[in-house]
Amino acid sequence: MASRSSAEAAALRSAPGFSFSAAAGPLPPEVAADVADACRPGAASILSLPFTSPAFRRLQEEAEACLRRLLAIPDRFRVLFLAGGASAQFALLPLNLLGPARHASYVDSGCWSRRAIAEARRYAEVSIAARVLGAVPDVAVWQVERRAAYCHVTSNETADGLQLRDFPALPVPLVADMTSDFMTRPLDFTRLSLVYAGAQKTIGTPGLTLVIVDERLLGRARPETPRVMDYAAQAAAGSRLCTPPVFPVFVAHRMLHWIEAQGGVAAMAGAARRRSDAVYAALTEGEGTYTIPVDAAHRSHVNPCFRLADEAETEHFLHAAEVVGLHDLRGHPQVGGVRVSLYTGVADAAVDALVAFLRAFARGHSGLGAA
Ligand code: PMP
Repeated sequence: MASRSSAEAAALRSAPGFSFSAAAGPLPPEVAADVADACRPGAASILSLPFTSPAFRRLQEEAEACLRRLLAIPDRFRVLFLAGGASAQFALLPLNLLGPARHASYVDSGCWSRRAIAEARRYAEVSIAARVLGAVPDVAVWQVERRAAYCHVTSNETADGLQLRDFPALPVPLVADMTSDFMTRPLDFTRLSLVYAGAQKTIGTPGLTLVIVDERLLGRARPETPRVMDYAAQAAAGSRLCTPPVFPVFVAHRMLHWIEAQGGVAAMAGAARRRSDAVYAALTEGEGTYTIPVDAAHRSHVNPCFRLADEAETEHFLHAAEVVGLHDLRGHPQVGGVRVSLYTGVADAAVDALVAFLRAFARGHSGLGAA
């Protein structure tokens, strides 16, 4: 039998409200309707579309063409549509990119870069190019080993609320985990050699990871790399060496076209900026109630993280938010505090309701029913 608190949580969640989940983002209503329609049982259902069919090949080609338009991806980059999450890439990167080298450089900027580092250490001698504690050290003081096969950064630390604003020009190929800010900022492919991102936060549903890789980095996989995980083999097979994640590719196709219709990456970047600014402004106004651990210059435009000045108030805050329909605000288990995730499909109305709640809570819990 469900405990009282989980029954209460289920009841609260079934009422109208908004999710700010960090794990996966909502689809915009028109995309969600399109996806639901495509799942209807029948011969045309996307759920049974063979990956070997011309229809799937066309879908994947259209998704890639749209992605290339949106990010201005140069021709020499290949786009891979791979199964498995971004965590799988933590291991696949060193397997694919080390070649004869033994060294890789990593920027340690928080929770997710540390997971990538731990996995890379199984294959490579990892040196830390820079350590980020609240603020990002200037690239002039990064120590990137010249013998490193690549340098890895996490462009947006989802759990810590910290974002690297610029991709530096480095003497070795730059690799970026963009799982939580993909498509929310333009990319400079003169500086980046490989970008990877799980789809579930900003372009759809779990199960698909995109890898955008400079073809000059292909063909370096260690001999023991499983073939389906070898970037060069997948590139040669059009990402169809094994069954690709057909349904998430379909959703990503729809999301990418939706982003294009909204005005592209510039529009997404503008929205991320405007929405996160509104959240940070409310937090700053409520200074005695909230604290923001990240330096102002590096605060994430996608995952604002904060703490209650009186940490003992955190549970009360989270419960009061749920009561007014604002869900999934609990910080990452390793970090604590509160986290707001403003992924592509989060409605402006959700952000407005949250900002009103933050203000009301800071004013001494007055007007909490209004959000
Ligand atoms: N990198 C970042 C920046 C993330 O936010 C996440 C997931 N929250 C991952 C990697 C891991 O993704 P997955 O769970 O899909 O493997």
